Amino acid sequence: MATLQRFQFSYGSDNYGVLLHDTDTGQTACIDAGDADAVMNALEQQGWSLSHLLITHHHGDHTAGLGAVKSATGCQVIGPHPVSQPIIGIDQHVGDGDTFQFAGRAVNVLHTPGHTADMINFYFPEDKLVFTGDTLFSMGCGRLFEGNAAMMLNSVNKLKALPHDTLVYCAHEYTATNARFAMAVDPDNVALQQRSVEVTRLRAAGEATVPTLLQLELQTNPFLRTDNPQLRQSLGMDTADDVSVFAELRERRNQY
Ligand code: ZN
Ligand code: FE
Repeated sequence: MATLQRFQFSYGSDNYGVLLHDTDTGQTACIDAGDADAVMNALEQQGWSLSHLLITHHHGDHTAGLGAVKSATGCQVIGPHPVSQPIIGIDQHVGDGDTFQFAGRAVNVLHTPGHTADMINFYFPEDKLVFTGDTLFSMGCGRLFEGNAAMMLNSVNKLKALPHDTLVYCAHEYTATNARFAMAVDPDNVALQQRSVEVTRLRAAGEATVPTLLQLELQTNPFLRTDNPQLRQSLGMDTADDVSVFAELRERRNQY
């Protein structure tokens, strides 16, 4: 099996889209389609033709270009069941635990509600890649628009259970703000201090901080560390349950 070539591109104020290209079959997938021009430019730049479009959730910054990309390329569109707002143009609806094939490899679907009720993430076990949409960001997580803390904690726990050397592609460049917030709630975390320095360097150089490694997120992302004694102590929540810690973190991040 050939290695998947990956091409990440920016659109909007802080969104990332990703193209995946398999050299054996020539198949190419794009994760989300918030901006048709950005997707088509990325394809042209790489000289790839789109066979699959994988949609994470219904928000416009992930779907607004779906119709135009589909009619321009004739790609197959795979996306979530219409549990919240239906998405026009999906050919194949998939949900938690489903598996589909892309370029001769299995793609596993994780339902990760919280940001939206329909949110799905795409895990490529053989390539050790996961596309987390607006569920998990580097050192952060999505806002709870259609779910609560218990639901989102359950969702991020599904991601935590993946192999730690999985590469995590998030849909937004929110890392610098997330790092500052993480430092405010988890100031004694040495791995976080180091990552913050690295993020500042990357952003100053105009470079992306995404993708990130799950291992690094487990060490630095407060939303994956609700069971960490040091973090709990800094929140004054030593004996609280994980859901309460998660809810407190999310609330503080909303106010940050
Ligand atoms: Zn969203
Ligand atoms: Fe988004």
